[in-house]
Amino acid sequence: MQSCIKTAPGKVEMMDIPIPTPGPGEIVIKTTLGTVCGSDMHFLDDIPTELIIPLYPSMASFLPGLPGLPMGHEGVGIVHAVGEGVTRFQPGDRVCSSCLTGCGKCLQCITGDYGICTGGGRCLFGTEGEYFVVPFADINVAKVPDEVSDEHAILATDIMSTGFAAIERAEMKIGDSVAIFAQGPVGLCATAGARARGAGLIIAVESVPERIEASKKFGANVVINPQEKEPAAEIMSLTNGQGVDVAVEAVGLQATFEAASRAVRRGGTISSIGIYGILPQLSMPTNAPSFYHRRVVMTLGPAGFNRLNHMLDIIRYGKVDLSPLFTHRMKLSQTPEAYNFFREKRDGVLKIAITP
Ligand SMILES: [Zn+2]
Ligand SMILES: [Zn+2]
Repeated sequence: MQSCIKTAPGKVEMMDIPIPTPGPGEIVIKTTLGTVCGSDMHFLDDIPTELIIPLYPSMASFLPGLPGLPMGHEGVGIVHAVGEGVTRFQPGDRVCSSCLTGCGKCLQCITGDYGICTGGGRCLFGTEGEYFVVPFADINVAKVPDEVSDEHAILATDIMSTGFAAIERAEMKIGDSVAIFAQGPVGLCATAGARARGAGLIIAVESVPERIEASKKFGANVVINPQEKEPAAEIMSLTNGQGVDVAVEAVGLQATFEAASRAVRRGGTISSIGIYGILPQLSMPTNAPSFYHRRVVMTLGPAGFNRLNHMLDIIRYGKVDLSPLFTHRMKLSQTPEAYNFFREKRDGVLKIAITP
């Protein structure tokens, strides 16, 4: 089968590799849709492939023997083969899987935090290929309702769950003011999540013209261009000098984390969903209003089939339409080119739908 493989730091190529066979608890999915994500860029450019097994020990049964790292963790498809012990799925089911998988048994999993599993769960790899394997399938996979498109379902597996969680985990109340720093795909999902949960004023911070437009479409009332105005000062003036109830950091940089902590009101919440690289050090200004009675909430990506079902239900019944995120469509064979597009933010790209 064709799969997009990382063969060297920063380099991907299409290669022919064997179709995986499912081990106990696993399923193999025939991909109908994959996509490139910001986290793929970290796996491609920043995280050495040698670190994948130390990072995810369960990859030891899968990675050796392959010519490199199979790329892609967001995928939708049809169940192709079912491993021993899997009870909820059979071949032919249309499904999607959380991009982070949980074992269902460790402390984190039994408290519902499947995305930060310590019992053998891992990030998915290989959704930019014709088939991909999902561990602990009964825990991490959901059937996709007929009325939900592949493009919507794939968002539920990662960026929608993450963006919405920025708002949920901040415990945003109806009418709260929210500022969201950066309107890339995940930041835009946070904007849509704040609107869906009943935010009052939503202020987005973004400089790319296409992202400014998308931000308004997804619910931002005001977009501040940081190349024109100083965001924290502007947010203070928009909130009568108080600062926002919730400030979301959605890019993963010291500068935006700091700006978010300057923009939040006393007693407010800084909600961080950015990925800060592999060895981050993060500091926060202690003289910012947020220093008083502040809350800082860090979120990776909530996962598991129940989370997926919730996301799919908001799409189905809650009239949340995130489809404008798909700005480009390509064939699987063009995946290396999709990475170039994504890395250079070419042509206003947000998400690229990749079909076999
Ligand atoms: Zn992702
Ligand atoms: Zn676990």
